[in-house]
Amino acid sequence: MNLPDYALTAERVPQHRPALVPVQERQRLQGQVAELLAARDAVLVAHYYVDGDVQDLAEATGGFVSDSLEMARFGRDHPAQTLIVAGVRFMGETAKILSPHKRVFMPTLEAECSLDIGCPPAAFAAFRQAHPERTAVVYANTSAKVKALSDWVVTSSIALPIIEHLAAKGEKVLWAPDKHLGRYIQSQTDADMLLWSGACVVHEEFKAKALGDLKRIYPDAGVLVHPESPAAVVGIADAVGSTSQIVEAAGTLPHELFIVATDRGLFHKLRQRHPHKRFIEAPTAGEGATCRSCAHCPWMAMNELQVLADTLADDARLAANEVLVAPETGRQAMIPLERMLAFPRP
Ligand code: SF4
Repeated sequence: MNLPDYALTAERVPQHRPALVPVQERQRLQGQVAELLAARDAVLVAHYYVDGDVQDLAEATGGFVSDSLEMARFGRDHPAQTLIVAGVRFMGETAKILSPHKRVFMPTLEAECSLDIGCPPAAFAAFRQAHPERTAVVYANTSAKVKALSDWVVTSSIALPIIEHLAAKGEKVLWAPDKHLGRYIQSQTDADMLLWSGACVVHEEFKAKALGDLKRIYPDAGVLVHPESPAAVVGIADAVGSTSQIVEAAGTLPHELFIVATDRGLFHKLRQRHPHKRFIEAPTAGEGATCRSCAHCPWMAMNELQVLADTLADDARLAANEVLVAPETGRQAMIPLERMLAFPRP
């Protein structure tokens, strides 16, 4: 079965540019959102790639900022019955699947993900059907329907040990949707993996040649790379890992300066955690550049403070951005998600 190329073309990627907001107005909006969260008895869970003000607000109001694995765990375990998920839609869906009795909202449901869009459930079902002997492992960046069709869900922070575990049992893997992450895991584990052909529009733009050129300018810099990046970029890295693992590596590696190949939203947490180190963006320009993202996910960028305030302030708008998952789909998707959450943390 030959798969079409599920990487998105530039036309399918929104050109979202967040508004520039003066400091005083940002502070006023943060205060307004904090009051609205309290009034709605809601907790804010944010991803590392969203606006730094939204991240700070989540932490200041008793919420949480992390990668998608820990966001899912926090949302499930927190006593609040209303979750506000600042991230992209699959994160909201995951929160809803794990907490079906809670109400889950997002600043905007328009926040999607190129990997999720590039893995349509019907096409994935056909892929699965064509290879019934394989264990289906999907990345968290997929719809609830695709998760419901799978045996395991993994995030980038736990994908390696889970695939190692399956390979040790002699299982052959059917992997979707990120081809770069799939290839990276395959290279580290020697697992027998059949790969879907999706890609992240942000990480796929990092360029190995331009990164090598930058490394010559800063020869003492460490290179931190997210494994959704192409193999040639991963090959230059001093550390490869999920967002949380990149933040950790910046602390444990001895370098004072790092070139970082992931969404630039992560720089907020990197600079907070490691104020004495410096971070520069890995290049997305150079030969073959299209700059579909310029190292910032256009869907993550939709989680602006003003959008969050407007959604929380308006009952009708909030209701329109509630995350809903069909109960049977949710029950099916819960099984592979709980397998991941029960797996020992790396
Ligand atoms: S950065 Fe890439 S993988 Fe993450 S949400 Fe955006 S498109 Fe999806």
